[in-house]
Amino acid sequence: MTTIIDAPVTIRQAPERATPENDQSNPLVNAKSQLATAAQTLGFDPGMHQILANPRREMTVQVPLRRDDGTTEILTGYRVQHNLSRGPAKGGLRYSPAVDLDEVRALAMWMTWKCALLDLPYGGAKGGITLDPRRYSKAELERVTRRYTSEILPIIGPERDIPAPDIGTDERTMAWMMDTYSVNVGYTVPAVVTGKPVSVGGSLGRASATSKGVVVIALAALAHLKRSPQDTTAAVQGFGKVGAGAALLLARAGVRVVAVADQYGAVHNNAGLNIEDLQKHLEQTGSVVGFTDAEALDAELLLELDVDLLVPAAVEGVLNESNAHRIKADVIVEGANGPTTAAADKVFTGAGKLVVPDILANAGGVVVSYFEWVQGSNAYWWSAQEVGQRLEHRMLQAWDGVVSTAAKLGLSLREAATVTAVQKVAEAHQLRGLYP
Ligand code: GLU
Repeated sequence: MTTIIDAPVTIRQAPERATPENDQSNPLVNAKSQLATAAQTLGFDPGMHQILANPRREMTVQVPLRRDDGTTEILTGYRVQHNLSRGPAKGGLRYSPAVDLDEVRALAMWMTWKCALLDLPYGGAKGGITLDPRRYSKAELERVTRRYTSEILPIIGPERDIPAPDIGTDERTMAWMMDTYSVNVGYTVPAVVTGKPVSVGGSLGRASATSKGVVVIALAALAHLKRSPQDTTAAVQGFGKVGAGAALLLARAGVRVVAVADQYGAVHNNAGLNIEDLQKHLEQTGSVVGFTDAEALDAELLLELDVDLLVPAAVEGVLNESNAHRIKADVIVEGANGPTTAAADKVFTGAGKLVVPDILANAGGVVVSYFEWVQGSNAYWWSAQEVGQRLEHRMLQAWDGVVSTAAKLGLSLREAATVTAVQKVAEAHQLRGLYP
């Protein structure tokens, strides 16, 4: 006799995109438009353009979760490998309620360009699960991560596709992924993920790598404009792994960071925020809101403050046609992936702003992911100082290349960075040839 157990099931799906194809709130529209501009500059034939405009491989998986209360929830996960021509796919794993297939596709494409621009021997990928990690216990997140990892197991691996942290995931998530993969293949495979805890093969300096890279580039951009950090004011949107580190390092470099925002709100102090105190406040309360040594500020208005430097370090599409004309900062350094839509980009270029694109500005994370992978394969680990120096060297080399290409071809920094990266990927395609 069959017993029917009446346990409730919740099916959680990605939010519907009720937007037309060309809507710039869809990050994929933005990513494709950047590629189209580069393809035109490079004189690509439609075949090459279309190969690069579409992901090489994508996987959508059902991730059933047994919740702590015994009920079942069905989540959806994705892994998209945009391009594999220059090496194994590489890219983060995002846990956020906004995750959907188009977002993951866009982020995977940006990873391809980022790795090519920084001369890392990787293609681009991204993964995501549509879930709000704040709503789940640690045990639930572990079960979700392990089930998702087993579902995508056939397409990941140190020679195939190497995940890393992104929004909503961290080194603990990577340790679970590494363990699940390893248990399934029967031996320990540290190189299947990067951004691992140092004690299981992670690299010193990986956790702060993205924010360090953002600040190295921001300071290079200020020097390029012959401005000193001491005469610069900044606002940082996002106070997570990237934003908090960037705010701290900017302040240490002498920049007056007057405002920061997280997903709950923003704080402002014209005399400059004490970022170390703010981090302590965040540790105690979970948000920047309520920090006593500052006034509260509408998070939306942070982007429009009269500052010299703006660092969007949260999510895609925050600088768009509805606010672009009100942005006052004349240097924008993209800590987030895809924060500027194509329409806003046009406004900024017209207004003579210096926009340092995501694929350059926030590449520090994947650069140190690469260092982690290299150190792991040699079973020889570098000092924090060595990691830091090599990171800075790579970032500045890429910066110099992008600045000189922009000057030579009369392009914006984004166009120059995209053209450089796309060209490298196309060259790999051409050299390898089309099979069969
Ligand atoms: N999630 C980070 C990014 O968007 C890092 C990816 C990685 O290290 O593979 O660049």
